[in-house]
Amino acid sequence: MSDQLEGGCFCGAIRYAVTSKPRLKAQCHCRACQYFSGGGPNYYMLVSPESLVFSGDAPSTYRNPDKPDAVTRAFCQKCGTHLTTERPGLEELVLKVGTLDDPSVFRGPKIAIFCEEKQDWHVIPEDLTTFATLPSSA
Ligand SMILES: [Zn+2]
Ligand SMILES: [Zn+2]
Repeated sequence: MSDQLEGGCFCGAIRYAVTSKPRLKAQCHCRACQYFSGGGPNYYMLVSPESLVFSGDAPSTYRNPDKPDAVTRAFCQKCGTHLTTERPGLEELVLKVGTLDDPSVFRGPKIAIFCEEKQDWHVIPEDLTTFATLPSSA
């Protein structure tokens, strides 16, 4: 993976650059991700907030008001693309792989998380380490 990654939302109103190497590559099977992905897992990388530089429109955010530990998800207000998730207690930001200009640089996840919420027809490659919920490092 190159050190400088670029991406943005589907309509191009929001652009970003990632200036340091992402720490972790994963797929998340949680029920919330199924809403945002179209039903499958979400593919993501962890990036430090300082290394993620946005340009263009400011993303709008959503946080479930009923959950004390709810994550904050950032979207393009024009096209609805979900770009990042901020999780309480996690230093890094969750960056959605589908928003990269060239998603092929992801080259696949290493771990699968929230497998206890997965659908029977979700596919998890055999060489992945799986977690029922969250590993301590992701
Ligand atoms: Zn957009
Ligand atoms: Zn998830």
